[in-house]
Amino acid sequence: MRIAAIYFMHETVTFLPFDTQLSDFIYEGSPARGEALLGSDPDGYMGGFVKVAREHANVEVVGIESPLFPKTGTGSGWIDKTTYDHFVNKMISELKTLGPFDGVYLAVHGAMGVRGVAKPEAELARRVRQVVGPKAFIVGTFDPHGNEDADFLRYANLAFCTKYYPHYDTHLQGERAARTLIRAIRGDYKPATATRKPPILTPSVLQWTGRSPWMDLVQRALVWEARETDVYVNFYYGFAFMDSNEAGMAFQVMTNGDPELANHIADDMANTAWRLREQLYYGTKVYSMKEGVQLAKESIAKKQTPVVLADHSDRSGAATWLLRQVIDQKLSNTLIGTVADKDAIEALRKKGVRPGDKFDMMVGGRVDESAGEPVRVVGTVNTVSGGMSRFGGGGGAQLWVSVKFGDGNELVISPYLHQNTDPAAFSEIGINAADFKVIAIKSRVHFRRGYYDSGWAKNILLVEPDQPFVGTVRLEALDYKHLKLENFYPFGKNVKYP
Ligand SMILES: [Zn+2]
Repeated sequence: MRIAAIYFMHETVTFLPFDTQLSDFIYEGSPARGEALLGSDPDGYMGGFVKVAREHANVEVVGIESPLFPKTGTGSGWIDKTTYDHFVNKMISELKTLGPFDGVYLAVHGAMGVRGVAKPEAELARRVRQVVGPKAFIVGTFDPHGNEDADFLRYANLAFCTKYYPHYDTHLQGERAARTLIRAIRGDYKPATATRKPPILTPSVLQWTGRSPWMDLVQRALVWEARETDVYVNFYYGFAFMDSNEAGMAFQVMTNGDPELANHIADDMANTAWRLREQLYYGTKVYSMKEGVQLAKESIAKKQTPVVLADHSDRSGAATWLLRQVIDQKLSNTLIGTVADKDAIEALRKKGVRPGDKFDMMVGGRVDESAGEPVRVVGTVNTVSGGMSRFGGGGGAQLWVSVKFGDGNELVISPYLHQNTDPAAFSEIGINAADFKVIAIKSRVHFRRGYYDSGWAKNILLVEPDQPFVGTVRLEALDYKHLKLENFYPFGKNVKYP
């Protein structure tokens, strides 16, 4: 049995002013092929897939040349068609040369935005189907922020989506994808699927599956999977920051040759979500930057530390709203990780920056109005490092610089957006997060992995700027060109479902 494995992922924020370019996907280790690709993500989708595939005798997995996650992480905009075609054409030609294949595994995201390509993941599946023919089986794994409809499954046979946010079960979904693909190739699993899209559109910060009713929908999917043999339920929360017609919530159900059951479960999940729509949308407290910093001070006074200030709204990584408030309100013992500033990093690289150097620079802001104004930081360089690339997007070695300033504060400057998910990660750049009382980070929900679910932080404060910028909860301020907001709850007046 021969299975080809392909990886092509990006979560595209189409409202950012800078496109994701070919060069962003090319760095040391990317693109990868063969064993390098198969071993590229041992704890994630690819790792789970390869592990289970290799538990089966006579199964060969072939890594097709694929770009890894771009080094800009999740902080970049539209991918141009030339870049997309460049990689897909290469994949298709390798599939032809190295084939024939009985099955193909596509590790994709679901919220990739390509200029001039309506549904890049479905289009990839369509191109792959042309090569491998109607008899081969195609399986995909997806991020729950995918904006999926039934189109991918027109060309592919199966899809498996991560359930939790933070995304704890990526490895498990990769394992399931391999097991079910191999069963399908053997004729032991005959995929019959159903897809539903209740018209609900939510910003990511509300989608934490650690609170009701988001956790109730995850639980309902798990109950269906437990009580019915061979059933898998995908719950896509959707990704509102990618301007596409297909954005919004979706459910997909896989069954073993039972379309009636697939339709029944898909209806149940979508109808349940619709019934819970009000609580899905409301009930997450987000503070202004000013309030957040005030509350952090109160937290310090009450010895409720460490406290996390999570700027959920910063999509470029360059936003300075929180840094501004930290300085203006004289917050102390605060670690700010990070403010992205590619130009500052380049200037520091040219200067040959070293620990102990005096620092006086304007940092961050500029890239768009969401990022705000650059902020002057005066202090002393503390660490110069290769960054925390393991916890960001892709990227290999980068230059990161941290600066001590104010009353026990430290600012980390990175070239790209960094969503910190674990205080322990700071040790990679020579900083002990436990030395600080406040940690100010850029993350919506993923940080709960290392800060909340681990029991590390004593207080969590979600913050956003007062203005309805790109990443805030006020989606009505986004300049949608494709998606029609009035078709979705809670924006349209007469949205009905089913
Ligand atoms: Zn996600």
